[in-house]
Amino acid sequence: MGPPDVHRMQDSLWYASAPPAPAAPPLAGAVRADVAIIGGGFTGCSAALHLAQAGARVVLLEADEIGFGGSGRNAGLVNAGLWLDPDEVERRVGPEHGARLVAALGDAPKLVFALIERYAIACDLRRHGVMRVAHSAGALAGLKEHAAQWLRRGVAAIEVLERAATEAALGSPRYCGAIIDHRSATIQPLGYVRGLAGAALTEGAALHGGTRALAIERAGSAWCVRTARGAVSADHVIVATNAYSDELWPGLRQSTIPIGCFMFATEPLGPNRARLVLPAERAVYDTQRAMYFARLDRDRRLILGSLGYPTGRPAGGVAWPRRVLARLFPQLGEVGWDYHWSGTIGFTPDHIPRLHEPAPGVLVALGYNGRGIAPGTFLGSTLAKRALGLAAGDLPLPVTPVRPIALRALRQRFYQTAFRGLARVGVWGRIRRAAPGALA
Ligand SMILES: Cc1cc2nc3c(=O)[nH]c(=O)nc-3n(C[C@H](O)[C@H](O)[C@H](O)COP(=O)(O)OP(=O)(O)OC[C@H]3O[C@@H](n4cnc5c(N)ncnc54)[C@H](O)[C@@H]3O)c2cc1C
Repeated sequence: MGPPDVHRMQDSLWYASAPPAPAAPPLAGAVRADVAIIGGGFTGCSAALHLAQAGARVVLLEADEIGFGGSGRNAGLVNAGLWLDPDEVERRVGPEHGARLVAALGDAPKLVFALIERYAIACDLRRHGVMRVAHSAGALAGLKEHAAQWLRRGVAAIEVLERAATEAALGSPRYCGAIIDHRSATIQPLGYVRGLAGAALTEGAALHGGTRALAIERAGSAWCVRTARGAVSADHVIVATNAYSDELWPGLRQSTIPIGCFMFATEPLGPNRARLVLPAERAVYDTQRAMYFARLDRDRRLILGSLGYPTGRPAGGVAWPRRVLARLFPQLGEVGWDYHWSGTIGFTPDHIPRLHEPAPGVLVALGYNGRGIAPGTFLGSTLAKRALGLAAGDLPLPVTPVRPIALRALRQRFYQTAFRGLARVGVWGRIRRAAPGALA
């Protein structure tokens, strides 16, 4: 089984507001494909779509339902690049692949937007950019350096804001400056992944939900993916299970550090109250280690989130978002809280995603470190190209062996405890109570 998520997929705001899922009946019987894909998130669905577009026979297996993992639960910030500065990405990845990866992930949101447009995916795309706010003067200097490094690569889409402009753009005086990355956007993530899956279906892929892959075995020159009631034989297998990996392929589950990430959503605020908090309706996240993020959805619900699992189940109450709201946006006053959900992020020790080929014809991409919408879509398309014959030397990342992380359980406990502590303590000052809503 994958990670023990605190919440069900059905707890999320996205589940309540997404268009219906595409048909994905469980697999029954033996089928033949060119490529078998395991995992129905951004990576697997993007791979399925790009393979089907190219005319390949594709069968996608998802243990639960499309978007069950991080893809259906996330905050919906379509960010360009990785968390790290581009210079640092190049340093960590190396000279051969680094510049290619930086350029590809800088452009990856464009791929997301193009797919949304081409397949008319209903996912509330808002191309207002995404703002990152600095909690200290040192952090602001870091953001300015980030913008400068992109500028040196010809990307002028990152705007720097000083304190007054940040306050005007955010509706809060707590930050000393910010950057707005105009390449970035927000979406309804479950709507997007369901839309990708629907597009793959339209292009001819077969989708099977409620179908856990139990084993990947050699069958002559092909592979056989076994399930409880069927099997797929294929020349290639794409394993796109990421932080939700089980024991299917040795060591994969242990190759990322699973960290919880949680969100709360208010009742719909209406245009006047929404203007008090995020006047430009632009998503925001900050520079703290246990980063906070905030955005509005289509119905102008305010969504707040962070890392860790501070309150456990919904019954754990809404103390956390009340405290954060009172500190960040006290002008909003009392609000009701309607949704609380969470999911699991797969971190890698160096914060760089991984490409693996643990056996000839078996392809893996994972470890997006909490930034998977654009990278997952892009690396899914890359795995598709690799299955179709792209040379290993042309990949945007080196192909590395699957490496279980040393002291993984200990590291996980350490991060989880640290994030939980930071989320509990908060760093934003005075507490004011807000009214209880559906979750109180
Ligand atoms: C709470 C949260 C907030 C986030 N916020 C953002 C954000 O704002 N922006 C952003 O870019 N990224 C964000 N992320 C990260 C992003 O959601 C992930 O990186 C991304 O969803 C990973 O996509 P994926 O397709 O690789 O894996 P997943 O979406 O996790 O999909 C893996 C799938 O594999 C399936 N599976 C596992 N084992 C098997 C098996 N044996 N057989 C069949 N199926 C199997 C699982 O059921 C699952 O559906 C967030 C993540 C979380 C959890």
